Amino acid sequence: MPDLNAPVIVLFRDDLRLGDNPALHVATSTNAPVIPVFVLDEESGGLRPRGAAWRWWLHQSLLALSADLANFGSTLILRRGAMADVVPEIVRQTGAAAVFWNRRYEAASQAADEEALKSAGVPVRTYNANLLNEPWEIKTREGRPFRVYTAYWRACLARGLQNAPLPRPSAITYYSGPAIESDSLDRWGLLPTRPDWAGGMRETWTPGEGGAYERLYEFVDHKLSGYAAHRDEPQTDITARLSPHLSHGEISPRQIWAMLDHPELAAHQASISKFLGELGWREFAYHFLNQHPDLATRNVQTRFDEFGWMSSEGMLRAWQTGQTGYPIVDAAMRELWQTGWMHNRLRLIVGSFLVKHLLIDWRLGEQWFWDTLVDSDPANNALNWQWVAGTGADSAPYFRIFNPVLQGQRFDPEGEYIRRFVPELAELPGRYVHEPWRAPERILKAAGVVLKETYPRPIVDHQLARNRALSAFHALRNVDPEAEGAAATDDSLPL
Ligand SMILES: Cc1cc2nc3c(=O)[nH]c(=O)nc-3n(C[C@H](O)[C@H](O)[C@H](O)COP(=O)(O)OP(=O)(O)OC[C@H]3O[C@@H](n4cnc5c(N)ncnc54)[C@H](O)[C@@H]3O)c2cc1C
Repeated sequence: MPDLNAPVIVLFRDDLRLGDNPALHVATSTNAPVIPVFVLDEESGGLRPRGAAWRWWLHQSLLALSADLANFGSTLILRRGAMADVVPEIVRQTGAAAVFWNRRYEAASQAADEEALKSAGVPVRTYNANLLNEPWEIKTREGRPFRVYTAYWRACLARGLQNAPLPRPSAITYYSGPAIESDSLDRWGLLPTRPDWAGGMRETWTPGEGGAYERLYEFVDHKLSGYAAHRDEPQTDITARLSPHLSHGEISPRQIWAMLDHPELAAHQASISKFLGELGWREFAYHFLNQHPDLATRNVQTRFDEFGWMSSEGMLRAWQTGQTGYPIVDAAMRELWQTGWMHNRLRLIVGSFLVKHLLIDWRLGEQWFWDTLVDSDPANNALNWQWVAGTGADSAPYFRIFNPVLQGQRFDPEGEYIRRFVPELAELPGRYVHEPWRAPERILKAAGVVLKETYPRPIVDHQLARNRALSAFHALRNVDPEAEGAAATDDSLPL
């Protein structure tokens, strides 16, 4: 006889929220006592170790989720170990009748979940919480997956929002059986200690579902109207900054879409379309990851497998630490180090610089972002790096080589952003802040800049680097002659 009072387990992973959480919603509506569990799985085979910034965020986010659950009289159980070991163990210890979780989409996580599903010993119910559509759901007319974003997103828009977001549960009956063993979050060592480099992140972010909603409200109330016009300007800070919240599942794309789909916001249609289109890139990244599970490690266009990337520890280090001598690149890399985040336009600029100016393998850039971003995401990061490198499908062509000076002048014309993150250039007049090496000696002196001492000279000359990259990429076999014919000047193609 099934025990009608048996509890059910809800596993939280990359869905650290109570609202629009299908697994939690269905579990609570069974009226069974609910045991919320978070498993820190660093043991299942093939899982990519998470970066330090993401782990800092996870710690804060788990604190927030525990506090939210405590308001319902519930306790978040923390366990560490392989999913396939921990899940059956908790089932056994509590006599749980079922397990509920929301699906994950990275191959190794899927494999870990598959194992846990087999070993659970009780029914497991799984749901989609973090995407508008399942990665395999949207298909071309011929029934195949899409390879091009525009057509993919058009198909998604035609489909519309399939399900309205689910409300937060009104009550969660907590399990009242024998105490369940739970780890101490502090002992998991997710926070940096020696040294504690997280000060910039603490100042910048409020992890947790509440923080995510604050960001969304702030965006809708104060930023949305200018988003379409100014979203590419880092210093205007007009983008939503929701990516780390989405990465940890503190808010869902359905909730965001539903909030924007409101008659009072109709005047901002251009911005809403643009913004939803960006969420569409996130969806497309998962759609694409589903087709290419090794997106983070293998060139989608295999002809790039023969490409002779340069190996230079010194150049890589200069890029990572914001010491390239190109102020917009350095400001962006330092912002990433200090806050764990970088504006999308800047990710494109620094990515292009690494791959094209320095001819360093995009995978090293992807790995650095993975280690340092609070929003590191298996699909978005890999797709975008391949896009920047020109190695993906539907990517930036190899001959698009951003000129970091022109990009800086275009998107940070007064150099405000640069001054914030490269304070040693703060006193340079706007005319020279993007290219200090062109400033006359007296101007450098008045601004307190000594090239090579207080700020580096460019580690590569733009024109030389550009020519070198063009000939290196050109030497690849099977270069598309049509694309070559279209090869134009720097920054000639709008994004
Ligand atoms: C080289 C490179 C690496 C990147 N790595 C990541 C990553 O690891 N994790 C990550 O979440 N994003 C990544 N992005 C995408 C994008 O830069 C960030 O999502 C964006 O900067 C988030 O800022 P926002 O929330 O203010 O964006 P908004 O402009 O307010 O956009 C709203 C949401 O749309 C999504 N989005 C926006 N731009 C993109 C994009 N180009 N691709 C996919 N989704 C997008 C994000 O979820 C974002 O939160 C990367 C981009 C590049 C060029």
